[in-house]
Amino acid sequence: MSSTHTGIEWTDKTWNPTTGCNKVSPGCLHCYAEALTKRFPNNFENGFDLTLHPERLKEPLKWRTPSRIFVNSMSDLFHEEVPLNFIQDVFKVIHETPWHIYQILTKRPERLFDVANHLEFHKNIWLGVSVENQNYIHRIDVLRQVPANVRFLSCEPLLGSLNLDLKNIDWVIVGGESGQKHRPMKIEWAQDIRDQCQKAGVAFFFKQIGGRTSKAGGRLLDGQIWDEMPPAWQEHYNVWTKSMRKTSLKKQTLELTA
Ligand code: SF4
Repeated sequence: MSSTHTGIEWTDKTWNPTTGCNKVSPGCLHCYAEALTKRFPNNFENGFDLTLHPERLKEPLKWRTPSRIFVNSMSDLFHEEVPLNFIQDVFKVIHETPWHIYQILTKRPERLFDVANHLEFHKNIWLGVSVENQNYIHRIDVLRQVPANVRFLSCEPLLGSLNLDLKNIDWVIVGGESGQKHRPMKIEWAQDIRDQCQKAGVAFFFKQIGGRTSKAGGRLLDGQIWDEMPPAWQEHYNVWTKSMRKTSLKKQTLELTA
């Protein structure tokens, strides 16, 4: 299941060349992807078991508008059961579609690190790790060792206060958990991360406070929406929309003069 209409505020589209996963840390407890597989069993014939979908690999080639694409909202690309050659196939598509930005988020940076020497890190890849509480900040150190044009952190669901080393980190997303059994986020935790980002000159994105539904607590932090993106996105978008406009104009001119 991929989607060109995602409800995730920090991306434009989701692309799921794999689905299914298993839990690795407290942030996984109320995994949204697992809940979706249970809610729509007809769409997931293997339930939440890790499943490869080679037939979906070429989907981004059909999306012509430069977009931010979240890779594997329903899984983890660096899950131990995803073969290296499949990860390489995903990276090949990324290389073939330089007009998109690919946001790859993992809770398994050790696997990413292990396979990194066998992958080509194109400019349009953004790599991120999830950090839900202070016990998982070691994921950031691993992320720093992998080449990426943009490195980001997803602190969602935020389960505790964080003291972050933001060296070589470009973007931080923060969000509270939602759902019937959500674990409430303290506003001070989010404020403190925002302050750390501002001090370090890192873009800060506040996704939601959380609550019984994702919209319950709203998106305001100190009366303001925080939708900051790394400057790399606007630069990328400007370059590619301009280049595509030129190509389309050239095509139209050729058609008119033919
Ligand atoms: S790593 Fe992500 S997809 Fe996998 S179980 Fe945890 S939250 Fe769900």
